[in-house]
Amino acid sequence: MTNKSPLAAILNKVKKAEEEGKKVINLAVGEPDFGASESVKFELSEKLKSGGKAIDAYTETLGIEPLRRAIAERFNKECGSEARWRSSSVILTPGAKFALFAAIYALVNTNADKNGVLGNDKLGVVILNPAWPTFSAQVKLAGASPVFVDTMNKKIDLKLLESVVEKYPPELLKAIIINSPSNPTGRVLKAGELEAVSDFAKKYDLWIISDEIYRRISYIKLPSPIARFAPEKAITIGGFSKEYAMTGWRLGYAIAPEEIISEMEAYQSQTITCASSIVQYAGLAALESDEANKEAEKMAKEFTSRREIAAAKLSEIPGISFSKPDGAFYFFINVREYLTGEIKTVENLADYLFEKSEVAIAPGSVFGASDYIRLSFAVSRGDLEKAIEKIKIALGKIKKKD
Ligand code: PLP
Repeated sequence: MTNKSPLAAILNKVKKAEEEGKKVINLAVGEPDFGASESVKFELSEKLKSGGKAIDAYTETLGIEPLRRAIAERFNKECGSEARWRSSSVILTPGAKFALFAAIYALVNTNADKNGVLGNDKLGVVILNPAWPTFSAQVKLAGASPVFVDTMNKKIDLKLLESVVEKYPPELLKAIIINSPSNPTGRVLKAGELEAVSDFAKKYDLWIISDEIYRRISYIKLPSPIARFAPEKAITIGGFSKEYAMTGWRLGYAIAPEEIISEMEAYQSQTITCASSIVQYAGLAALESDEANKEAEKMAKEFTSRREIAAAKLSEIPGISFSKPDGAFYFFINVREYLTGEIKTVENLADYLFEKSEVAIAPGSVFGASDYIRLSFAVSRGDLEKAIEKIKIALGKIKKKD
């Protein structure tokens, strides 16, 4: 049985409480409080009026060519490559989540391991912990096994990654998933760390799935995408949810060598056919609109300010520890000292904060870190300050561990 997303479960709990009239401040949420750009909505309404058959019909399975081309061109610039990535290197999907699943499925659901042994369901995919829970859930859904490496506060080098092959037969490993900037930690992998991942992948003949959905929400200069170091083996996942505040529109993509895109295309053609035509045109409008891109930059700047506000407020709380995130919009906070008495786990703490303070947070256990909580700062400054003050008061009522 597949577990439902624990983060979606928190979201549903908040919605239910709100229906009952409670005013919950939701710091568990992973979506910007900004809306999609008005310019995107305008372009879309124009397209609806004039688009005719183009918007009524199925698109190509891979998605509309101009958007794939625009994504490939932008990626070439980021990778410092002239024309390596083409429209045929891109597949558009309903959300990055589906691109990720199609990629994992294309890699592991081949009914054969690398030695051609049929029906092998023990292929492994390496995941760097702490990690967004969807990675391991999707690996399992595709019939493979997640193989975790603990990377919390550790530099990622070849030695650390090779600890994996002591516990899992390397010939069964198929891929490694990385996510920089990271949900939940906000960590950005340094160029040297990306090289280590790339060396590891080369040595053990693995694919690299690189979820870069938070790439444009960062507070430091990012190194080039890993596809620059390992173009033949990198599958880069991106999307419009975070960058253009279009979570509900559902538009994501993968950029990869054509052999993988072709596998993903086959899978997409037998499942959802193609991403919604009108949403693809909206995505094209977003990429091409100066106004939408300026708004995306403004949003990223606003997150920079909120990060400072949250860090200042959080540092007033004794007994917790955190580092400022380098990217994405989450603080990952060690609350071990508050896990005491009735509150034994971070799930208990999340429930306590929900009940006592009407603040929703995500327990770190869902990301594989049981002493941590994750706070999103993709909420208004006012709500952010109010919520952290409430958390401070509620934690103050718990007798800390000595
Ligand atoms: N990848 C990561 C790391 C995420 O945190 C999220 C959403 O929280 C997604 C992908 C989902 O993106 P989309 O809304 O495009 O499916």
